[in-house]
Amino acid sequence: MDAEIIAVGTELLMGQVVNTNATFLSQELNALGFNVYYHSVVGDNPQRLTDVLNLAVKRSRLIVLTGGLGPTEDDLTKQTVAEFLALPLVENAEGLAKITRYFERSQRKMTPNNRLQALTIQGGHVLQNPTGLAVGTLITQGDTSYLLLPGPPSELTGMFSQVARPLLRQLLPQSQQLYSEVLRFYGIGESQLVTELADLIHEQTNPTVAPYAKLHEVTLRITGQSTAEKSGAALVAATRKEILARVGEFYYGSGDERTLAATVVAKLKEKGKSITAAESLTAGLFQSTLGDVSGVSEVFPGGFVTYSPQVKTALGVPEATIAQHGVVSKEVACAMAEAAREKLATDLAVSFTGVAGPNELEGHSAGTTWIALAQKGQPTQAYLYHFNRDRSYIREHAVMQGLWLVWQSLK
Ligand code: ATP
Ligand code: MG
Repeated sequence: MDAEIIAVGTELLMGQVVNTNATFLSQELNALGFNVYYHSVVGDNPQRLTDVLNLAVKRSRLIVLTGGLGPTEDDLTKQTVAEFLALPLVENAEGLAKITRYFERSQRKMTPNNRLQALTIQGGHVLQNPTGLAVGTLITQGDTSYLLLPGPPSELTGMFSQVARPLLRQLLPQSQQLYSEVLRFYGIGESQLVTELADLIHEQTNPTVAPYAKLHEVTLRITGQSTAEKSGAALVAATRKEILARVGEFYYGSGDERTLAATVVAKLKEKGKSITAAESLTAGLFQSTLGDVSGVSEVFPGGFVTYSPQVKTALGVPEATIAQHGVVSKEVACAMAEAAREKLATDLAVSFTGVAGPNELEGHSAGTTWIALAQKGQPTQAYLYHFNRDRSYIREHAVMQGLWLVWQSLK
C-alpha cells in the first residue's frame, strides 16, 4: 500500500524547524508494511496544501499529514482537508471536554479559538491526543485514507504509537502487515554485533534483521511478514530467541522508546531498591538522566554533585585520600560512592570521577574515568575506563556505563 507524508508548516520551509516528524513517520510506516514513496513540505497556506493533496491523491492510498491542528489562525490543515473532501468539520465532545478541563485546572482563561482543537472531519475516526489538546483524525474516502496528526513531535509520537498504529494496521491486508521489534544493546559495538549475527542479517529474508548504531548503543530491528504457515509475530519471536542466544549478555530491552535509564529504574522498583549518586566528571548528568524517567522519585531520593576536592571532602571523602591518590583514582571513586550511600541510606550509590577533557588532569589523559558502585552489605567495586572523543561524549558515555553497571548488579 503506497503512502506519503505531508508536513505542514511555514517554519519548516523557513528552515527554522527540522522535519523530524517525517523521519519518524517514515520509519513507523515502513515498519508497518506501507511503501512510503513521497515526502512533501508545504507552508501554512490552504491553496498550496490543496495543490499538494491533489497530487497526493493520484499516487498514494494513505496520506499522512502532520502539523496545523492547533488553535491559531495559521493552523488550517483540518479545514483544508475537510474542504478538499467536501465534508464538514464537527466538534468532538471528548476532545472538547479535555480542553475545557485543561484550562480549568491550569486556571487560565480559555479563549474561543481553543475549541478549534476539538474539531474533526465528519465521518472520520477521532484520535485523542495523549500528550496535548488537538485531536487527530483518520478518514477514508474512496480508496484513500487521510491521517491528520499534530505537529509538536512529542504529541505526534504519542498519538502515533498509542492511537494511530493499530488503526493503520487495519488498513493493510493481512498478507502485507509487517511485525517488528526493536532490540536494544549496550556494551557491544555495531561491527561486533553484525559479525556475530552475519548469517541472520545477510542471508535471512523473513524476518529481516537490520542494525542501527546509535550514540553509545546499538539497536536491531527484526521485521517479519506473515506467511501461510506462521504469523509475522511468531517469526520475529523465533529470530529474537536466536539473537539473544548469541548476544543476549548485551541486551537490555525492547522498544523504540525504551532507554537504559528507564530499564534501570524499572528494575530498581521491581527489587524495591533505592539509588543515589556522587558525580564529579558528569556533574549531575547521571542524576538528570534518571530524572528523565517518570516515577523515578520512588527509588531516587536525591544525590550529590561534588566537583571540587573541597566539596568531595564535604561529602565525606577524606582529605588524605585525595592528597595521596588524586581525585581521578579508584580510592576517591569508592569513597565518593560510599559517602553518598551512607548520607542518604540508599541501597546503591554510583560515583563518577575522571577527566572530561580536553586537557589532562593529574597526568591522566582526557576520557580517563573511574566509576564506583557501592552496595549495601557488599564490598564497593570500582572500574576504570578510557572513553574517547569530546567532552560531552565522554560524559554521556560515562553515564551510560554507570547505568549499565547498576543494571548488571541488579540482574
Ligand atoms: P500547536 O497546537 O502547537 O499549534 P499544531 O498541530 O498546530 O500544534 P504546528 O503549529 O504546525 O502544529 O507546529 C507546532 C510546532 O511543532 C512547530 O513550531 C514545530 O516546533 C513543531 N513541528 C511542526 N511540524 C514539525 C515537523 N514536521 N517536524 C518537527 N517538528 C515539527
Ligand atoms: Mg499550530
